[in-house]
Amino acid sequence: MLRKVLQTLCVVAIALGAMALAHDFHDVLNGEPHCGTPVISERDADQVDQIVARFKSIICNNAEPGTVRICEDVHVRATKFDPITIPVNWHVFYDSATGGGMNVTTEMIDHQTDIMNEDFAGLNPGGPGGYHSTSFRFEVANVNFVDHSNWFHNMIAREKIYKKQLANSTDTHLNMYVGEMRGGVLGMCYFAFMYPADSHMHGCLIHHSSMVGGGQTNYDNGQTCTHEVGHHIGLYHVWQAKCSERSDRVEDTPPQKTNSRGCPSPVPESCTPGLYDNIHNFMDYSDDICRWEFSAGQSQRADEIITVFHPGYLSHAERSAIRVAADRAGLADAWAEAGRFQSRFAAREAEWTQFL
Ligand SMILES: [Zn+2]
Repeated sequence: MLRKVLQTLCVVAIALGAMALAHDFHDVLNGEPHCGTPVISERDADQVDQIVARFKSIICNNAEPGTVRICEDVHVRATKFDPITIPVNWHVFYDSATGGGMNVTTEMIDHQTDIMNEDFAGLNPGGPGGYHSTSFRFEVANVNFVDHSNWFHNMIAREKIYKKQLANSTDTHLNMYVGEMRGGVLGMCYFAFMYPADSHMHGCLIHHSSMVGGGQTNYDNGQTCTHEVGHHIGLYHVWQAKCSERSDRVEDTPPQKTNSRGCPSPVPESCTPGLYDNIHNFMDYSDDICRWEFSAGQSQRADEIITVFHPGYLSHAERSAIRVAADRAGLADAWAEAGRFQSRFAAREAEWTQFL
């Protein structure tokens, strides 16, 4: 009996803790431009990292050298492998009655795609240059303009309905939805490990004003899309765990107490003197013009998350090499553990989407 009471108290305490966190989040950010991507628990983040570590250990101990990207040093991957080019299905909502969202054109989407390609290739024109090139590139697969007032104005609330109708080939394609969100949300995206790779729920939501040239003050140079796709491929906010050592689970991004704003000068050292905040990193909230890089550690993490949780983006040759390595290790399916985790995570959807 006592045990049961303690268990109940524990559940209530955890729930209250989560609510307090969510209220803090909204108190601080409601109205200010911010990202709506759900924050996951440290425990879930631990599990994700453990699955990746196990996958990597088994596959890299059994793969032919030079056949699996994540088994090679991150700094030489670009010389040994072609980029992972993700085809993108764009779904653009607009409201013909009010003209809302009709500023988004195919030219804007082409321009936005060019900017994402620059950002992910380490070629953003801001700052000193010489940034790390990630493995990821993007190409427009399809652009679908949808005149639907309700979906346009209520992108988050109607998400399940339109994604079920419109999402296309989520295991091999990224689906991007453009429309309006309230309360200052400029974008949101689920991490690749939150749903099975072929779930229609994958795909990013982008406020039309934060597309390149969309008119959102300080946030219309196109880096909202870069940031949200960064989440999809497994990257957390650089202040995810505040000043804790684990921070964003990336070794070369210093811990950071909270999100940045504007383009602060001098650069804050919010956790440890001498360790500068990541104000120029795409996974912070600085103005678009102030953000110009992903780190090598983020690039490495993104490769690992996609290889383990969304292999449909990889080349046929690389998937085959992984299958061969798994077979050598006596594993029937290299992706079985990741798939089970994704199904379990998706089943807890109500828990992590309750504050969206
Ligand atoms: Zn974000």
